[in-house]
Amino acid sequence: MTAASSRPNLWRRIPLWQKIIAGLVLGVLAGAVMGEQASLFKPLGDIFINGIKMLIVPLVFSTLVVGITGMRDPQKMGRVGARTIALYLVTTAFAIVIGLVAATIFQPGAGADASMSAPQQAGEAPSLVDIVVGLVPSNPLQAMIEGNILQIIVFAIGLGISLMLIGEKGEPVVRVFESFAEAMYKLTAIVMAFAPFGVFGLMANVSGQYGLDVLLPLAKVIGVVYLACLVHVLVVYTGLLSLIGRLNPVRYLQGIIDALVVSFSSASSSGTLPVSIRCAQKNLGVSEGVSSFVLPVGATINMDGTAIYQGVAALFVAQLVGADLSMMDYGMIVLTGTLASIGTAGVPGAGLIMLSIVLAQIGLPLEAIGVVAGVDRILDMARTSVNVAGDLMVTTLVGKSEKELDLEVYNRRGKA
Ligand code: ASP
Repeated sequence: MTAASSRPNLWRRIPLWQKIIAGLVLGVLAGAVMGEQASLFKPLGDIFINGIKMLIVPLVFSTLVVGITGMRDPQKMGRVGARTIALYLVTTAFAIVIGLVAATIFQPGAGADASMSAPQQAGEAPSLVDIVVGLVPSNPLQAMIEGNILQIIVFAIGLGISLMLIGEKGEPVVRVFESFAEAMYKLTAIVMAFAPFGVFGLMANVSGQYGLDVLLPLAKVIGVVYLACLVHVLVVYTGLLSLIGRLNPVRYLQGIIDALVVSFSSASSSGTLPVSIRCAQKNLGVSEGVSSFVLPVGATINMDGTAIYQGVAALFVAQLVGADLSMMDYGMIVLTGTLASIGTAGVPGAGLIMLSIVLAQIGLPLEAIGVVAGVDRILDMARTSVNVAGDLMVTTLVGKSEKELDLEVYNRRGKA
């Protein structure tokens, strides 16, 4: 009786992030021991991912409307938007350069076996004009049904501004959205309580699928991508936070652990969005107004990890086929890699498809994508974590610059 009644307390006393990490570690072990049979646990992961995805549209839409109406000042909105986009672009450019430097130093493609994997057909990438035209939804309900985040953002901003402009008449609707957003935050917390089990299921499945046989031949490229990702987070993000934001970067790293683990195990930055929003507000102390705008935009266009990967993968392929790249080619990789990462959807494997744009631009064989494809999931997990970490870093900086960062929450030790 006493044992049974004390158990929930013990469970509750352990911080969520520790339970999630335990799920991750146990999942990897289960996969290593059980091999492909560990796919038995996949449904746990699927339930969790579905639960988070269920939140994306209602959460993003309601919090963004509330956030926009809360800003009360169109000028401020413009400023937040401009800063957000500028920071996203700058960090992405850094990312791709770090990827290029790492791949130049470590030469992951030199001596690799190009025949190890079957060629894979690369998908078609959308053009820039298509992307811009596609921002405006012809039918907002359809945008929601399809989960088109950028279109939802455009509609939510339009609705938010309109509600702001009609003043008192808009109050009842604003209040409905406020209450709805609150409920969505609660639902996020409920879904997150299941995260340790979900992450366990996801990791058991991944680790069971990728035994050492698959990993070893491409260990070098995996190592270079992981190293470049680590350097980007530990140097660029923490550097910008300390230099521009005058903030303690350790608190940032502590505050984003939940989002890191969920993005790592799910390989989807869009799918992690509800968790990122929660981390930004609860652990980093960023206001609803800033986080509900900056994070959904970032989950769609800011992909630093993907940019790192594009840089490393492009050089890897060049080294593999023995192609000599000119300075012009390097410049082209930076440009197309940045654009490709912006166009990459925040779903598993999307970066691999966009890699074809970069390779095609510098005349490298698209078939080489097949070589990387074998271990893409492993690379995807790292790059997605960086994608999400980047969104949260920019959110923190924008929040700080707009005086919408609660320093007491940000600096609190022992985050929940
Ligand atoms: N999986 C990544 C993400 O969701 C995108 C990619 O494949 O690079 O952020």
